[in-house]
Amino acid sequence: MISLPPDITFEKRPLPGGGWAYEFRHRTLGALGRILLQSLPGRRDTYISCEVAGDPADPRTAERRAIFEPLGLEIARQMEQIVGSPTDKRPIVPPAPPAEPGEVVESKLMQCSTCNAFVAMLVFAPGATDAGRFEDYARRMYPEYSRRNLPTWIIGPASGPGPEDSADILQVWPTRKPLQRLTPAQFNPRLDRLAANHCRPKRNSMR
Ligand SMILES: [Zn+2]
Repeated sequence: MISLPPDITFEKRPLPGGGWAYEFRHRTLGALGRILLQSLPGRRDTYISCEVAGDPADPRTAERRAIFEPLGLEIARQMEQIVGSPTDKRPIVPPAPPAEPGEVVESKLMQCSTCNAFVAMLVFAPGATDAGRFEDYARRMYPEYSRRNLPTWIIGPASGPGPEDSADILQVWPTRKPLQRLTPAQFNPRLDRLAANHCRPKRNSMR
């Protein structure tokens, strides 16, 4: 087996339909991709394939692919020699990432204070305790926030039990920003401005 870079770990898990998945994670990029070992109906050999984690339209998927593809293909090639089956040469990017079982991501849409149009989305990420886990939420929610096209923040767990305790917050849309640690007093005014300003330019231009 080739040795993994220090930032990369993997876990082996059984697949629901039979077979095994080797799931690879990166310290800061979160889930990278999987190598799947499956027996197809009517065939005796094991089918080995690689897939990169994430929506193909998400720019982060390309970053994950750049790291995972050479590694995944090399490991898959070595597995193929052991089990004696051909490997699918190209990693498959699934058209829509399947929902990860048992994890419901809570989100909230903020509305304009005048017309009630949606102006922002907040994603609550109590499990986002490090950079890689923030990326997991960003990856999983990408189809949703890219479709809604609203400013979107992923909010990690509060640093303490008090109502004014800070939390790590990651803006993921329309542009990626660095992770920030903000208190509600620092963050909420941004949302208030979005809610207040949505209809304001329109009113001014009517005068
Ligand atoms: Zn409005």
